[in-house]
Amino acid sequence: MSLDGTYDEGNIFAKILRGEMPSAKVFEDDHVFAFMDVFPQSKGHTLVIPKHSRARNLLEEEPQVLSHLILGVQRVARAVRAALQPDGIVITQFNGAPAGQTVYHLHIHIIPRWEGVPMGRHASGGMADPKELAALAEQIAAKIS
Ligand code: 5GP
Repeated sequence: MSLDGTYDEGNIFAKILRGEMPSAKVFEDDHVFAFMDVFPQSKGHTLVIPKHSRARNLLEEEPQVLSHLILGVQRVARAVRAALQPDGIVITQFNGAPAGQTVYHLHIHIIPRWEGVPMGRHASGGMADPKELAALAEQIAAKIS
């Protein structure tokens, strides 16, 4: 899908938000929802999405929603750091299939990195063990402040 198109209510993140699909939840407030990526590029790879949005990508999003989203990302990234003590954190976001986007509900990736540990491939690695994801989500959630 290119940058043009219409929001699909059946996308996987919309289903997670509606509770139709499970997720390893890390954090939720009135504006954002954070959960573990099931094809993680590193241990602790977390996604943050706006809850009240029909934007497929960053270019379509309302300024007010973006403000809440980036503040949510900072809050969750700080918790990831506190929980997992990474050496660095990649914060990234893709717009359109040619850029690497695979799910068309705006989301931001938080990917912790450790010296000497290569980052996994985007959206194409193995599926993580749900129990491990739940444990990581709990560890990160405990550090949300
Ligand atoms: P994008 O490629 O659109 O930037 O990122 C989509 C992300 O969603 C990918 O990193 C992919 O691993 C992740 N993902 C795809 N399907 C699911 C799912 O059903 N649950 C969760 N938690 N993550 C998913």
